[in-house]
Amino acid sequence: MLMKLAPQFVKPLAFLLPMYGIKSRVAYGTGLWLYDRLAGSDAIAPHRIVDRSELAEMEPDLTRNRLSAAALFYDCAIPSARFVVENVLDAMAHGALAANYVHAEGWERFGADARWRVRCTDALSGEQFEIQSRKLVDARGAWSNPDALRLVRGSHIVIPRINASDHAIAHFEPDGRIVFVIPWGSRNQLTLVGTTDEDHHGSPDQVSISSEETNYLLGIVHKLFPRRSNVTPVSTFSSLRPLVRASSGSATRASRDHRIWNSADGILHIAGGKYTTYRLMSEEASDLVCKEIAPELEAVRLTAQTPFASVEHEIGDEMEQHLEDYLFVSTYLGYEQRWDRESLLPFARALAAKRGWDQARVDAEVNAIIEASHVGA
Ligand SMILES: Cc1cc2nc3c(=O)[nH]c(=O)nc-3n(C[C@H](O)[C@H](O)[C@H](O)COP(=O)(O)OP(=O)(O)OC[C@H]3O[C@@H](n4cnc5c(N)ncnc54)[C@H](O)[C@@H]3O)c2cc1C
Repeated sequence: MLMKLAPQFVKPLAFLLPMYGIKSRVAYGTGLWLYDRLAGSDAIAPHRIVDRSELAEMEPDLTRNRLSAAALFYDCAIPSARFVVENVLDAMAHGALAANYVHAEGWERFGADARWRVRCTDALSGEQFEIQSRKLVDARGAWSNPDALRLVRGSHIVIPRINASDHAIAHFEPDGRIVFVIPWGSRNQLTLVGTTDEDHHGSPDQVSISSEETNYLLGIVHKLFPRRSNVTPVSTFSSLRPLVRASSGSATRASRDHRIWNSADGILHIAGGKYTTYRLMSEEASDLVCKEIAPELEAVRLTAQTPFASVEHEIGDEMEQHLEDYLFVSTYLGYEQRWDRESLLPFARALAAKRGWDQARVDAEVNAIIEASHVGA
């Protein structure tokens, strides 16, 4: 569905899945057979088996130690942060009011009709103000009620391009973890390697890759590409999966299902899920809100089949308030190199022209990027 609605963002990506021995060939073959059946007529193409010699031609540096064959299957790639911004812009085009850099500090009911009053702070100016509403939805992700969530950190490293073909590689570790090696960057000149699954016990505001995670991911790169020594990350990034707390088992196997529920005070909470389920989650949540405060709208499906507009945005058109927003959200250029003042200034000046920044603000924006470590431990 996302490929149909937003083909400019959601692009098919071919994966090679190396298989070792007859057991893995039967297990992955059965899994991929089922995967093709589930995709039905929407499948990009059914999976096929690539033998050792074809694989050697496609990926000459990929280890052939114990390798029996590989499966070639399709999934999709999505510029995830950018896609969130596109959803916000699309919602605004349909009449929604959205504001970034606004922090909801606290909320309570008031008045005869028990409306909500939410105290907010504009994080850019420090100004405080209030929003009133009939219904409140808590979609705070990793910042939601910690009792309901299990925060699982996923980290990636970005390295110089390592594989020869345009295919991504899906590698299964012996414990069942899957790690992807994906051609990446604005010219596919890089490789993205990830992710990890680590329970995160600290604040959701402090998330970065640990040295163990970096070494784990580099270890997989060396295992798959033993001839490519001395690979060092260009950049790294880490984020939190706000998973619904269900069990204390392995973080890898923790459910990615979503949960939507009204708490006793009447707040609608929405948690868990994936990009692949976000439309379903939004539909379920908005139906519940409508049922309560506007039943006549419950059956309305204005955007369920409406493709995203294909608009070319310039720097500053996507609510960017800091240079960091442009480099790490609207685009992922920030992860593509190590930055210095000279390389940052053209971007800072372009955003300054849109936002009316003076030289002191340009310097502050540039310094903020240089000081923040995007290479990690
Ligand atoms: C490493 C990793 C890999 C993933 N891979 C995939 C994948 O391959 N496929 C897939 O489908 N999904 C994937 N996901 C899952 C997907 O990214 C998450 O499900 C999704 O980001 C969760 O979105 P969310 O909006 O619920 O929460 P979040 O993304 O955490 O967003 C919550 C938002 O609420 C804001 N907020 C919090 N508190 C306040 C407050 N008080 N006031 C105002 N704003 C507030 C935050 O600033 C944040 O912007 C992955 C996730 C991770 C971490």
